[in-house]
Amino acid sequence: MLAPFHFDNSFARELEGLYVPWAPTPAPAPRLLLLNLALAEELGLDAAALQGAAGAALLGGTRVPDGAAPLAQAYAGHQFGGFSPQLGDGRALLLGEVIDRHGRRRDIAFKGSGRTPFARGGDGQAALGPVLREYLMGEAMHALAVPTTRALAVVATGAPVFRERELPGAVLTRVAASHLRVGSFEFFAARGQRDALRRLAEYAIARHDPDLADREDRFLGWLEAVARRQARLVAQWMNLGFIHGVMNTDNMTISGETIDYGPCAFLEAYDPATVFSSIDHDGRYAFGNQPGIARWNLARLAEALLPLLADEAEAAVALARPVVDAFPAWFDEAWRAGQRVKLGLAGAQPGDAALADDWLALLQEQQVDFTLAWRALADFADGDDAPLQALVVDRAALQDWTARWRARLVAEGAPPHVRAAAMRRASPWVIPRNHRVEAALAAAVDGGDLGPFEHLLAVLRRPYEAQPGEEAFTEPAARELTARYRTFCGT
Ligand code: AMP
Ligand code: MG
Repeated sequence: MLAPFHFDNSFARELEGLYVPWAPTPAPAPRLLLLNLALAEELGLDAAALQGAAGAALLGGTRVPDGAAPLAQAYAGHQFGGFSPQLGDGRALLLGEVIDRHGRRRDIAFKGSGRTPFARGGDGQAALGPVLREYLMGEAMHALAVPTTRALAVVATGAPVFRERELPGAVLTRVAASHLRVGSFEFFAARGQRDALRRLAEYAIARHDPDLADREDRFLGWLEAVARRQARLVAQWMNLGFIHGVMNTDNMTISGETIDYGPCAFLEAYDPATVFSSIDHDGRYAFGNQPGIARWNLARLAEALLPLLADEAEAAVALARPVVDAFPAWFDEAWRAGQRVKLGLAGAQPGDAALADDWLALLQEQQVDFTLAWRALADFADGDDAPLQALVVDRAALQDWTARWRARLVAEGAPPHVRAAAMRRASPWVIPRNHRVEAALAAAVDGGDLGPFEHLLAVLRRPYEAQPGEEAFTEPAARELTARYRTFCGT
């Protein structure tokens, strides 16, 4: 018998008592719809054993793969600011971990594999549309060089899922650096389970920040390491126009990977107030709020870790506060550095932040498409100003800003084509446009046709390259459509 996965299950082994061993619900008629061969290769899996009916059985929960130790993880979370003491893997299971070809430990997990003890009122299932969406967005983010969980496979279960209407059910196999979230720590902290909290934190440090393991102040050092990773991650989101949509603390990893692609979407016309999520009525998770929310979430992590930082609460707070307070500066550093690359600046000068801010203000005033504008700026650096001119109505305002920008470029050494190439490596030619994503999902779910999905996915695998013939994928949606566009949590 072939063993596609060589599991080494440190979570199950080392954290007994902190999870619930649980088996997936077998899919009645599993059918393998997607298998990510490049990822399977990276993970060192036997891809042949994951193909066809055998693969569908293994990746649809019908047959638990050899060596797996499936379990449901416990976690809590602040959702839209309010605390839920018990969320957990309601419809997800960690199967186990594998060591990939680069020596990195990666979680293999199911989503949509049936109810668990954490399911509360939920049915434990996932509908095909949201599963495909998570697959597509995760792979697109990976291609954009953003840290993210990834998708290994999608299996149609053959069981119907009942939402507003009956939908086909599916299981996503998700790969992650780990599934530890801010909410994982909140869970044990809220119950006053200090020992469990400590075990979990020691585990997280050993897994994600082993350099800290021997330090006396490792928990504080680790809080800082998590904060710095999140600062870099959210800076990348902000420089690409990505809106996560539901930055609850249970949807924020401590690995620094983007996780849980429910209502996420990319900006079109630049506006920091942009919200697409149908349940985000107050705009808590609006595009421009994301850095502040990341900091808020890290403050919740800091609170959860207080019992590990010092015996006296006051002393613990005094240690944690500077880390949380430093977050905006760490974010700014990463965000501004990314902006400079997009502006074609290799060096840093005092006026650069104002130059970037005024560019963004111009885009907002003129309602310019964020992605197209940055890419057109690279064309401008290359000597072609027509694409940018075509995007902006107020030519005088544009002229004022580009004059300043060109004056700033004089201090830069690189020849124009080298500068433009560097800019294009930071500003994508193509992103997952909302209307394109919806069309691909509709074809798959309503028409049973994965063709458009595969086509879109193929284009999104090379986002920084111009792909002649695929220009249609770069076009924004009609403005009315974007104004009406709503996304939904993957439930
Ligand atoms: P999410 O919105 O996917 O981040 O999930 C929030 C919480 O709800 C997590 O604890 C999930 O496990 C749980 N959950 C979401 N959908 C379902 C479902 N259909 N069945 C059981 N639990 C669910
Ligand atoms: Mg979640």
